[in-house]
Amino acid sequence: MFGFKLGLNRMQTSSYSRREFFRAATLAAASLPFINPLATSAAEPDKKLGFALVGLGNLSTHQIAPALQQTKYCRLAGIVTGTPAKADRWKQQYGIPEKNIYNYDTMSRMVDNPDIDVVYVVTPNALHAESTIKAAKAGKHVLCEKPMEISVEKCEQMIAACKQAGRQLAIGYRLHFEPNNLECVRIARSKALGELKRIEASFGFQIGDPTQWRLKKGLAGGGCLMDVGIYALQATRYLSGQEPISVTAVSTVTDPVKFSEVEETINWELKFPGGLIAKSASTYGFSGMDNFTAYADQGWWGLDPAYVYNGIYGRRSDGAEIALDNIDQFAAEMDDFAHCILTNRPTRVPGEEGLRDIKIMMAIYEAARTGREVNLA
Ligand code: NAD
Repeated sequence: MFGFKLGLNRMQTSSYSRREFFRAATLAAASLPFINPLATSAAEPDKKLGFALVGLGNLSTHQIAPALQQTKYCRLAGIVTGTPAKADRWKQQYGIPEKNIYNYDTMSRMVDNPDIDVVYVVTPNALHAESTIKAAKAGKHVLCEKPMEISVEKCEQMIAACKQAGRQLAIGYRLHFEPNNLECVRIARSKALGELKRIEASFGFQIGDPTQWRLKKGLAGGGCLMDVGIYALQATRYLSGQEPISVTAVSTVTDPVKFSEVEETINWELKFPGGLIAKSASTYGFSGMDNFTAYADQGWWGLDPAYVYNGIYGRRSDGAEIALDNIDQFAAEMDDFAHCILTNRPTRVPGEEGLRDIKIMMAIYEAARTGREVNLA
């Protein structure tokens, strides 16, 4: 998308935007919790926390376990799986001791295992509360994948369980640690291109296997919105730094057999205080939509792609690129959470942040179902 708007050479502008980012980020870090970098903390822990992964599917296998090997403050200490063959494979590959291998029924016994400090929940959405609550009761801190759960009530139970146990709960919002997304937040909050007036943010992909849990309402809670639309929703919230006051939405389907339980495509529009509008879409019906653009009264900026693991890249209306180094977002997210625990400071992505998204997504579904504007205030 941005290639069509501007014909600039990537190398001409990237050093400018990198320099500008670090100067501005340092200035902004003190006042903006969203972009407060890890490096600003004085304490440098000399310990690594033991992480146990719950659910050894695609994300754990291909992203989280490899990322753990790159972290500064974390180590892969244990696993929770319902499949003994997987347990054997992981035990061999990562040298996990037998005593740190659990299944979903035995994970409560972690209470007696000081090797495990943090439980990272990576199961289907509707199973997040169950493992989070068991982990909290076993005295562990919890990092839980997005979406936090499939209902407001279950999110509230997760927050309450962690609070009661005196443990931190974080949601796996990896883009809160991604430099190009942070740079876009900085442009918005510093008003470098003026007052924010409109945001467009969309994310979708063409989903394959019609039998997978992502298409089952009971396990997924919803379709593309809960899975990837949540990134577009997050972007509109972190760019604006505001909470929406109302929403309208339209849901459409072209394959009613495949999408008999969850939505295929959904479009929504959020109103924020002061008149800012955010227009978004998400789909499981086609690929290619992975972007946001923010429009202010002195220019625009945005990323395309915006939400992927690698290759995030953007442009500004004044000709500058947004081309900061892509990092391992999972390693950054886990290191930040471990650092929070080790230095006793709160995470920037707490359970309350996950709950806010669930509340808004439930309102988006209600707006699509009823055809009415739903108030969020
Ligand atoms: P997956 O299907 O590949 O893995 C899910 C795992 O849960 C499997 O190991 C499976 O055996 C286990 N499981 C336990 N009980 C199950 C049940 N009743 N039905 C099905 N599976 C069951 O899924 P995934 O892609 O790894 O996603 C897991 C979680 O991570 C989801 O909440 C998803 O939204 C989230 N996720 C986040 C990102 C990100 O970028 N942060 C990316 C992908 C997935």
